[in-house]
Amino acid sequence: MKNNKTILIMIDAVRPDYITQEYTPFLYDFSQKNTFLKLETLLGYSSGIHPSIYSGYYQDKTEKFVVFNYDPENSIFKWTKWLRLIPTAFLRKFFIAVCKVPYYYFPKKYRRFLPRFFRESIIKVPPSIPLEILPYFNMGSVKKRIRTIYDYFKENDISYTSVATARNEFFEDVQELDKLALTDALVDSFYIYEPDGYGHHYGANSQEIKEIMSKIDTKISELYTEAYHKYEHVDIFMFSDHGMYNVEKFLDIQTPLKVAGLQQPRDYIAFFDTTFARFWPKNDEIEKKIIQILEEIDGVRYLDDTLLKRYHLDFKDKQKFGKIMASVEWWIRQFPDYFSPVKNTIKWLHGTFPEYEWSYGVFMTNAFTVDDECMKVVNIMPSILKVMWLEHTLHADIDGKPVF
Ligand SMILES: [Zn+2]
Repeated sequence: MKNNKTILIMIDAVRPDYITQEYTPFLYDFSQKNTFLKLETLLGYSSGIHPSIYSGYYQDKTEKFVVFNYDPENSIFKWTKWLRLIPTAFLRKFFIAVCKVPYYYFPKKYRRFLPRFFRESIIKVPPSIPLEILPYFNMGSVKKRIRTIYDYFKENDISYTSVATARNEFFEDVQELDKLALTDALVDSFYIYEPDGYGHHYGANSQEIKEIMSKIDTKISELYTEAYHKYEHVDIFMFSDHGMYNVEKFLDIQTPLKVAGLQQPRDYIAFFDTTFARFWPKNDEIEKKIIQILEEIDGVRYLDDTLLKRYHLDFKDKQKFGKIMASVEWWIRQFPDYFSPVKNTIKWLHGTFPEYEWSYGVFMTNAFTVDDECMKVVNIMPSILKVMWLEHTLHADIDGKPVF
């Protein structure tokens, strides 16, 4: 094994069409000579997709999905009940906004020394959430430990490193893109965050995306060339988690509910993510009413039992993420939602249905070949383990399987 090297690189939000001869010559050449697949993502966000990539389980088994979950008992936002003492909704929001200001003036490096309460609660209050709803929610998803590819490495005495260019729960270290380097471990695992941030900000077709992809291409080319000269055998796996699409239409889901006479928190509790709308109705009658309203809004798909099963969002505990769930269709973003106080802040998105053309990510490797053109995210981990002769150690209940 000493003469083997395995390199895993996840690059956030890279679409197949980002790989071009002009801007990513190394990856382009690699994709011509090796396995280059479209990657079918999941209905959800990175907060749920990453756990599925590294564990091989769908979101309804990892129970990691959206960032905010229903949990009035343990909510880290319980203290916001006291904000009722401030007379108007506007002043309450203004107070929270002012509290957040010092954080952004604090040098990034030292922010972790700020009080925990500040870092883990005040700073995480979504800017547009009604403060009377907030104490019903908790964040950081559900504290469930899942078995990831790194556990398999540990159990099989495979040395590895994991370094990311932004904080991520699956990676031990944070390092700048330029500084990513190989080590003596058998596996070096990297997560490159930048294309996601650049994509949201500048768009998938922007010059900025081309430039950052070019930098990433150079970095990966260096890592691969170094490994190629040092080791007898190098397996490299490069993949993203989802694509990115342009928002062409804004859709208000909250007004139709108000027009129908439904009110929070009296009749229901809801969380409006950018692409999801999730509800906890007070009774069956209200539940029916909400579903009926959702079904009548053009551009919204209510996730009934069939769709929940199809997209592997059939959670055992229906309370945790939403008793009723709906997603907007492609091209659409909710406005208002609970995250953005201003309409045009983010014009590029991901998080809607995976079968849409621009939702796809990529998967590239030199370790195996397949006839298919497409691969599913849950199959990444089992495929990597098979290449490393660890397929027999995979848990029997795992959703993914090797693709070759
Ligand atoms: Zn993103």
